[in-house]
Amino acid sequence: MDGPVGPTPDDWATAVAAIQGLPADGRVLLICHVNPDGDALGSMLGFGLGLCRLGVTRMQATFPGRFEVPEPLRGMPGQELLVPAEQAWPEADLVVCFDAASESRLGELLDRLDRSGTALVLDHHASNTRFGGIHLVDPTAAATSVVAEGLLARLGVPLDERIAECLYIALTTDTGSFRFDMTTPAVHELAARLLSTGLRPGEISRRVFDTRPFGAVRLYGDVLARTRLEPAAAAGRGLVWTYATLADLERHEQRPYVLEPLIDSVRCTAEADVSCVVKQVAEREWAVSMRSKGDTDVSRVAVALGGGGHRSAAGFTGRGSVDDVVAAIRGELDRLPTGVEIRGNSGA
Ligand code: AMP
Ligand code: MN
Ligand code: MN
Repeated sequence: MDGPVGPTPDDWATAVAAIQGLPADGRVLLICHVNPDGDALGSMLGFGLGLCRLGVTRMQATFPGRFEVPEPLRGMPGQELLVPAEQAWPEADLVVCFDAASESRLGELLDRLDRSGTALVLDHHASNTRFGGIHLVDPTAAATSVVAEGLLARLGVPLDERIAECLYIALTTDTGSFRFDMTTPAVHELAARLLSTGLRPGEISRRVFDTRPFGAVRLYGDVLARTRLEPAAAAGRGLVWTYATLADLERHEQRPYVLEPLIDSVRCTAEADVSCVVKQVAEREWAVSMRSKGDTDVSRVAVALGGGGHRSAAGFTGRGSVDDVVAAIRGELDRLPTGVEIRGNSGA
């Protein structure tokens, strides 16, 4: 079986031509996945700021679902490009999609792909379904921002501090601050180029990763206290999981974004290869985050349950009760082959 392959020189040339061939008053619509994370927003806004430098004047950036940028990402440059999905142009000359592995991640913005002149997809998920017209999908890239920077470089756009901050936040988000496997020499080289524009990494990390309301810290206590360990699950590799309800958020007066770092506390459990946090989004609907230390391909579990992701970080939308969702995960883990598997990237 072939390993993951990135864009070919032809793919890059086609993408560059699509942008350079835009009419002077061409409309460019940038979209990213629902509940945008640092990579989705950072690759989109960093690329958008780059297009501004190329002289593109008619541009919107948006994402489906609730129009709310998580508090830790509100300082990210380029937010002046953002409009709520309902205000996004119904059609544009070019639509560029960031960090979305499948059409299901685009919600009500999906129709823009068909209605726009050209649809360019920038992504790094091995599970990318190759929707859209032009694909710059690199499963070896640590983040979609790596692909975005590759395209900006080919367009001759110099990195400035605002572009660099967006791309840096994206890169640190998806590499777990340079801790995950796909933190290659090239990732550090890109980080060095981004930092050399004048970024202050300590200040950015504090804002993005290390600042949460006191109520969130108390909420973490409740949620972590109910964590369960199932050593026999996943063919003996072990499963550790917990859940957070809307009532938990309400009790501590918190927004859902505060739940995102919980998976990092749960996944450090030594006795389990697989970790999950099941986060309630509606009465019988849950956003599930899954991680693996490397022996289990959690993207297979997520894809089987209607989601997607990477070998070591994946997710899906679960239905029913918490127990229904965890039972479905256990079932899919039991169905996984136990032999040696080929590794893709492991970022988010
Ligand atoms: P998260 O746990 O939200 O950080 O997501 C980890 C990875 O799983 C990311 O690469 C996401 O793109 C992917 N992912 C999470 N939720 C979904 C979903 N509902 N559908 C498809 N992919 C998802
Ligand atoms: Mn993402
Ligand atoms: Mn990503």
